[in-house]
Amino acid sequence: LSERLQNAIKMFRGSGKITEDDLKAPLREVRMALLEADVNFKVVKDFVTNIKERALGETVQQSLTPGQQIIKIVNDELTQLLGGTQSKLTVADKPPTVIMLVGLQGAGKTTTAGKLGSLLRKKGKKPLLVAGDVYRPAAIKQLQVLGEQLSLPVFALGDQVSPVEIARKAMDKAFSLACDTVIIDTAGRLHINEELMDELRNIKAAVNPHEILLVVDAMTGQDAVTVAESFNGELGIDGLIVTKLDGDARGGAVLSVKAVTGRPVKFVGMGEKLDALEPFHPDRMASRILGMGDILSLIEKIQSTTDLAKALEMEKKLRKDEFTLEQFLEQMQQVKKMGSLETILGLIPGMSGISQKLKEANVDEKEFDRVEAIIRSMTPKERRHPDIINGSRRKRIAAGCGMRVQDVNKLLKNFEESKKMMKKMQGMAKFASKGGFKM
Ligand code: GDP
Ligand code: MG
Repeated sequence: LSERLQNAIKMFRGSGKITEDDLKAPLREVRMALLEADVNFKVVKDFVTNIKERALGETVQQSLTPGQQIIKIVNDELTQLLGGTQSKLTVADKPPTVIMLVGLQGAGKTTTAGKLGSLLRKKGKKPLLVAGDVYRPAAIKQLQVLGEQLSLPVFALGDQVSPVEIARKAMDKAFSLACDTVIIDTAGRLHINEELMDELRNIKAAVNPHEILLVVDAMTGQDAVTVAESFNGELGIDGLIVTKLDGDARGGAVLSVKAVTGRPVKFVGMGEKLDALEPFHPDRMASRILGMGDILSLIEKIQSTTDLAKALEMEKKLRKDEFTLEQFLEQMQQVKKMGSLETILGLIPGMSGISQKLKEANVDEKEFDRVEAIIRSMTPKERRHPDIINGSRRKRIAAGCGMRVQDVNKLLKNFEESKKMMKKMQGMAKFASKGGFKM
């Protein structure tokens, strides 16, 4: 999906005003990409219509090219489609908060019960896992093993007691263990049937869960959406957990489900490991799908803080290989204005490696001040020609700013590293300053 959408977006270029003709081919590509990703047909239709209406209706912002404007619209609409903002779990006024996991067999309920318990404990909660699947003896054992691995308490009464009874008794147990969150694992079936729904409705009536979360398997595509519609109609659900998103490159289920059911995705399962459950962030997912990192916000940051003329001038100097410590300092100050260096680099696809390198090189933000002090105690000539900084000069500089010779050495080494890195960064700045989203 990502690749096709990215290709479609590359088609958005044009200049001046956005016309219906400009939109035709790229929007067809967007539509095809979504359909291929197994996104519900009606959802796709509405999505494309929304983009078209917005693109034709909006005047292009001065700071953006029409291409960028459309990317922004697609990104916004995709975020909306995915639910807009992150949907948090309801927390009970009077504990415990009761969370009931429902879904078909194999969707990932039991695994997710463990994962969710572990995630909530990290947030300071005290969860109790409840083994409510009495149809497969192995299911109880499975939850107990998970509980052991995660050191979470598990409440089980074997397979001779009804799930309703188990759920009820679990409330007492939570009380006596002072658990503030109860996560009930339930039985699934291969298909939706009355027996399953009756059972779930009975549990619901008995314990009045604050959250009924439907667990669906992303790999089942549109089926997951159909399942969600039925569960929501028959039982009523508060949200979804989409599992196995790690295995489904198409991601169609996650894209359609909110639009079709009106219920948000609250978490996604990203792997078999017990820490592979993440709160679902629509905006992050949208940019992940569009494959641009947070490139838009990066452009915004650069545009709002960098003196573009300066950036261009620096770029020229770089090309002539005249990058000096003076510019290094200037550059650092600009980067400081933009925010943490690591954050910035993390925003650029493919730059996270460099961010890691920086971390190793120990260039953190406090270091900016030290760097500044050191450079300030150099002579202008030294700043312009760092190669002349020999041993005795290093000693003098260190003494001048009250630091050690090692600090000066480290700075010079970092300068060399940064010289290489800034060359790459300059590419970005130039790209932003020209307002061009050339891809
Ligand atoms: P249940 O029948 O709904 O309780 O499903 P289970 O919790 O037993 O999970 C079924 C299978 O799906 C197990 O092998 C899990 O390890 C696997 N599984 C669950 N969630 C994920 C996920 O997010 N990613 C991957 N790759 N596998 C998962
Ligand atoms: Mg299970």
